[in-house]
Amino acid sequence: MIHETLRKYFGYETFRPLQEEIIQAILDGSDCLAIMPTGGGKSLCFQLPALVQKGTAIVISPLISLMKDQVDALRANGIGAAYLNSTISASESVQIFRDVISAKIKLLYVSPEKLLSQDFYRQIKTIDISLFAVDEAHCISQWGHDFRPEYTQLNFLSREFKVPIIALTATADRITRNDIIRQLGLRKPQTFISSFDRENLSITVLPGREKYENIKRFVGKRKNQAGIIYCLSRKQTEQLANNLNSEGLDAVSYHAGMKGSERQAAQDDFINDRVQIVCATVAFGMGIDKPNVRWVIHYNLPKNLESYYQEIGRAGRDGLPADTLLFYSYRDVLTLKRFIEESNQKDLLTRKLERMQQFADARTCRRRVLLNYFNEGYDKDCGNCDVCQNPPEVFDGTVIAQKALSAIARVKEQISSGLLIDILRGSARKELVDNGWSEIKTYGAGRDISYRDWQEYLLQMLNIGLFEVAYNDGNKLKLTSLSRDVLFDGKKINLVSPEEAENRWKQQQEKKQPQSKVEELDNALFEHLRSVRKNLATERNVPPYIIFSDATLKQMATTKPTTEFAMRQISGVGEFKYEQFGIIFIRAIMDFNQFGNTNDKKAANRYQTTYNFLKKGYTPEEIAERLNLNIVTVCSHLAYLYQSDYDISLQEFLEKEELQKIEEALRTPGLKHELKPIYEHLNGKIPYHKIRLGLSIAKKEQY
Ligand code: ADP
Ligand code: ZN
Repeated sequence: MIHETLRKYFGYETFRPLQEEIIQAILDGSDCLAIMPTGGGKSLCFQLPALVQKGTAIVISPLISLMKDQVDALRANGIGAAYLNSTISASESVQIFRDVISAKIKLLYVSPEKLLSQDFYRQIKTIDISLFAVDEAHCISQWGHDFRPEYTQLNFLSREFKVPIIALTATADRITRNDIIRQLGLRKPQTFISSFDRENLSITVLPGREKYENIKRFVGKRKNQAGIIYCLSRKQTEQLANNLNSEGLDAVSYHAGMKGSERQAAQDDFINDRVQIVCATVAFGMGIDKPNVRWVIHYNLPKNLESYYQEIGRAGRDGLPADTLLFYSYRDVLTLKRFIEESNQKDLLTRKLERMQQFADARTCRRRVLLNYFNEGYDKDCGNCDVCQNPPEVFDGTVIAQKALSAIARVKEQISSGLLIDILRGSARKELVDNGWSEIKTYGAGRDISYRDWQEYLLQMLNIGLFEVAYNDGNKLKLTSLSRDVLFDGKKINLVSPEEAENRWKQQQEKKQPQSKVEELDNALFEHLRSVRKNLATERNVPPYIIFSDATLKQMATTKPTTEFAMRQISGVGEFKYEQFGIIFIRAIMDFNQFGNTNDKKAANRYQTTYNFLKKGYTPEEIAERLNLNIVTVCSHLAYLYQSDYDISLQEFLEKEELQKIEEALRTPGLKHELKPIYEHLNGKIPYHKIRLGLSIAKKEQY
């Protein structure tokens, strides 16, 4: 039964992990806490029970933009849904309640403020409620960053209503979890925690240099693919967007310092596929559900793994492969440390940053590091991170480390990394000479290593604990006990060449082209279907992904359904969507098969016109006359349409005997299956245009 509903309304064949269990628990009347990562498919967990039960489900959601999006998506699947929040007028609200009472609305989304209003309370007391869903339930916790005071007043739901409550969140930590259960007063709740692994996300960390070149390289291989670049500062987002624009790339910036209307415009353009790239501060992303974000770049190191994972999680919600790239530099570490020094949670933040660095510096599978941080025992190599794909080759870096450490010792731990590198590289800087540092033994001892490479090595050394940085004292480098082991006890140190990692990544990017002719064609068809989708979305004033997801279009582009049956098999094509859009996409696929890349729009239109006339009941002769075309041409149009499964029949345009004669001729050994030879073989008794039709029928019968 729930499988049928899944198929019928959502067009999906199978459930994602835990969806079925959660749905079953709700249908059994249990309160539930569902913890799933972004993109895990939380919405379906309450939408489907809402559909199969009588009454209306009340969904509490803190973000206005997400409410609208979900309601649009439900309606596109033919499901009655509405939302109530501050943007809805009193009269609209009256109408919505009428629809609820007349059972037209299966899901009603409300903001917490609305839910808590006296008015609303009176009204929901009178209606038939199937369940309550509390979305983004972590907002209840004061520990989290999205705390919403109204959420703490939701406990009346469990006290006053007998229906199940399901709380949903992507935040997994135990404090938040317990907070949700306690504050909502969930009754013997069943807790479901799904894996936080998002295996469709590739993970790469690159040295934070040549960032801009590498971004261009990366984006250049991802034409038309939407992505987000997270930056640390507002200014950076603007600069980066400007630079990308000047290269003809399609980017906008987004940060909290922009006017509300500008921010909204940037977000809308991104959601509606009108702009490809958003360069944003972390302010961006909360209010969007866009499932087809294909990549996320971190221009700077995030301050902890929680933020990082949440931000990369915005890519690939639709389950298709998506790529993430993090630039990691010594400078960012210093900047973040400075922030931390100024904060009042120094210890905690420092520990979190250290874990972030461990991840960025990892020489084992990064997904392992990440998921183990989130307490998810993950004990295999993922195969989808840069370390798995290109295991870094370590070399004996003891001498390099010794040179650096010895220099630090000789200048009495009084310099920062910049000066250290200058000393090692034997710079003629006045400051060095004045301080007598150009006299020390290691001056110039690291000349053979470039400045940039030194930066990388120092970062690696810092992370191994070979020295410390006095963040509150000019970032001076200080020796540690480990430094002494290396300097005096011959402890060996392994380093990784930054150049090598970067080069391998570059090569990998080059290989990103479609592998075969078939793939290339499928990509072209995908793009064609995207443009069809875009037009439909614009007409209906909804984001394109509301029409069909990228995953659905991808499947169409590879399996090329041209019949109703085949189209209905595509994941994401539910009953309602088939009725709305099925034929349109079947046609789009046929046209594409027919005319290849529909750059040949004119030809496509001609065929379409012929088809339209035929459907209106005109004969081929009449069509030829109307369009001022040769009858053979018209029949060749018809032959094509017939061949590509348009619902037309050609049999009525030639006599049975004529068809038989043509088929006989086709069986004649050695006779070419072309108009002229057949015409001559039949002594000119059957006109060319009929032979054209006959050939087409015979050919189709063969298959
Ligand atoms: P979350 O709220 O957990 O981030 P969503 O509910 O927005 O995730 O779902 C993410 C995407 O996955 C949506 O595009 C949704 O349509 C799709 N999805 C959900 N369940 C399934 C399923 N069983 N099969 C295929 N796609 C699904
Ligand atoms: Zn891995």
